[in-house]
Amino acid sequence: LEEQIAKSQKMQAVGNLAGGIAHDFNNVLTIITASVDFLLLNHRTGDPSFQDLLLIKQSANRAASLVRQLLAYSRRQTMRPKMLNLTDVIADMHLLLKRVSGDHATLERQHGRDLWPVMADIGQFEQVITNLVQNARDAMPDGGKITIATRNVGASEARRFGYGELVDGDYVLIEVADTGTGMPPDVAERVFEPFFTTKEIGKGTGLGLSMVYGIIKQSNGFIFVDSKSGQGTTFRIFLPRFIPSEVGGTVPESAAAAANA
Ligand code: ADP
Repeated sequence: LEEQIAKSQKMQAVGNLAGGIAHDFNNVLTIITASVDFLLLNHRTGDPSFQDLLLIKQSANRAASLVRQLLAYSRRQTMRPKMLNLTDVIADMHLLLKRVSGDHATLERQHGRDLWPVMADIGQFEQVITNLVQNARDAMPDGGKITIATRNVGASEARRFGYGELVDGDYVLIEVADTGTGMPPDVAERVFEPFFTTKEIGKGTGLGLSMVYGIIKQSNGFIFVDSKSGQGTTFRIFLPRFIPSEVGGTVPESAAAAANA
């Protein structure tokens, strides 16, 4: 038994480490990919550097797919939730998200006032948003608009959304909407399945949204997709409102972990 415990602790440590590194790597890779894309635009196919740039891009894509698999593995590991204001977290990601959404798409943020706090792991939440924005960009090859919105949804309004899984209670709602290709119902039904992808080989791993789903479930939240072919897609994430027990104070990490258990 002791051997088993030691092994599982080791697995967890490796998972945490891998998740942490993979997350940082992902941000770096996003910038490499976006920069290479930009350089490629300024080179013609016959230019001497064109093939080299293409190779950089393909390698970065492969690295990104490996990193995503690592993240999928590490999502089963413990997370370190903290009390977060998601409006601030998303505002801090603005430059990165603009890079991710590319030149064709415009990125808009709409934040409701006085957003309630939630308990979440900031690194994982950033990963969730980055993934949704990446998918939105991929769904808009000819450009369009990506809107990220946050607002409070009280118990009575949550019921009106008509998502059966939502239980009574206060939620923070995060919406990522695009004006892209949308999906037919049979695709929309399967998007959270691991390895489900409609992208060509090398472009998609089908792990992005299954990872997103895992993170949101672990945070005691819900995620739903609304999509119409030819019109666009909206992902809605509901995270439970966190009510700090000590008025005015920040929550110690041990309490944060307990609240999440
Ligand atoms: P991947 O992006 O590697 O394909 P995901 O799990 O992130 O893996 O997405 C799975 C599939 O869901 C995508 O291949 C695509 O068909 C569909 N999808 C996800 N987001 C969107 C979106 N915003 N618009 C249209 N289709 C989407």
